[in-house]
Amino acid sequence: MVTATLRPSTVLVNETVILHNVAHALARLDAGTELFAVVKADAYGHGLLRVARVAEKAGATGFCVAVLDEALALRQAHFTQPILVLGLIEPQYAPVAAANHISVPVASAAWLEAALPLLTSEKLPPLAIHLAIDTGMGRIGFQTIAQMQDALAVIGKQPECFDVAGIFTHFSTADEKDTAYFEMQARRFNAFTAALPKRPRYVHVSNSATSLWHAACNGNMIRFGVAMYGLNPSGHAIPEVPYALEPALSLVSQIVFCKQVHQGDAISYGATYRASGDEFIGTVPMGYADGWLRRMQGFHVLIDGQFCEIVGRVCMDQFMVRMPKAYPAGTPVVLVGQSGDQSISLQDVADYSDTIHYEIACSLAARLPRQSV
Ligand code: PLP
Repeated sequence: MVTATLRPSTVLVNETVILHNVAHALARLDAGTELFAVVKADAYGHGLLRVARVAEKAGATGFCVAVLDEALALRQAHFTQPILVLGLIEPQYAPVAAANHISVPVASAAWLEAALPLLTSEKLPPLAIHLAIDTGMGRIGFQTIAQMQDALAVIGKQPECFDVAGIFTHFSTADEKDTAYFEMQARRFNAFTAALPKRPRYVHVSNSATSLWHAACNGNMIRFGVAMYGLNPSGHAIPEVPYALEPALSLVSQIVFCKQVHQGDAISYGATYRASGDEFIGTVPMGYADGWLRRMQGFHVLIDGQFCEIVGRVCMDQFMVRMPKAYPAGTPVVLVGQSGDQSISLQDVADYSDTIHYEIACSLAARLPRQSV
């Protein structure tokens, strides 16, 4: 993927804000509880290595990623902390994980059976595994204690090949006001941990929402994701947060072309927009190939502290806005962030697109350069 550094469309990442968000979360943890920064999906679009460096500086003691390649990218950048891959890897890659001291989740005895013969080399350290428990998320994990015990029996065949470093679950409703389902999942999780012969080093259940709004089920590590980036995990559902979350990401561009059009003149593919009189139209060099999707037609950007409507269809690499006057090429455009007294948040973009801010942040394409501010 080519990153477009010679174009004014840029994702700005405020590192100080990330530092503060992590510090706030750490300050609320019990002594001995660690924070692993969730930096999967290019740190939710904010830039993997940049965010990892800031989180480390702020006191994160480990990282969570989604896929093995992200973990290897951290190792290649010389991060030595524990790294946990949250998604299942294929057994054939177990030796790569072990050789790089990367922890992986295990959700079945069959996976262990398949990985075991690949891990017997004396040159490999034991593979660190975290037992994934499906307490109600319905995604990955042991559904019954018997299944978990079958897996432990496989490990017992050659215990030198595995290090049972953790046990964890994931809540599906931690960001909702009604806590009944959450409490059911917590009860189930506690039953699984009680059935373990030995408590592993890491017992963890908390994503951002759990860390903000729930007690931590005897956990000693939190997997801190979206709140590190300053976004409320619940969207609008639970506006009350124990500390102010400050968004770290802004998205900016510039007008590259300005023109006057007249009544009836059409803008963009399909000629879906027609000027209702004399209008100033600016062209912004960003489009759906950058993650600014077609559905953003009719939304707005900020120019000079004023909301300007996105008119006509968003193209692959450009879109047009109606401006109150002629603004020359080079005029700053804010797609997400502050301009004058006005602001547009990722949540606003998500609301307009009928989705969640997680999806908007992760959809910002690799073509957009990330720049620290
Ligand atoms: N833990 C697991 C297993 C996850 O899948 C995720 C994110 O999807 C997280 C933690 C982090 O969640 P959040 O970004 O809501 O903090």
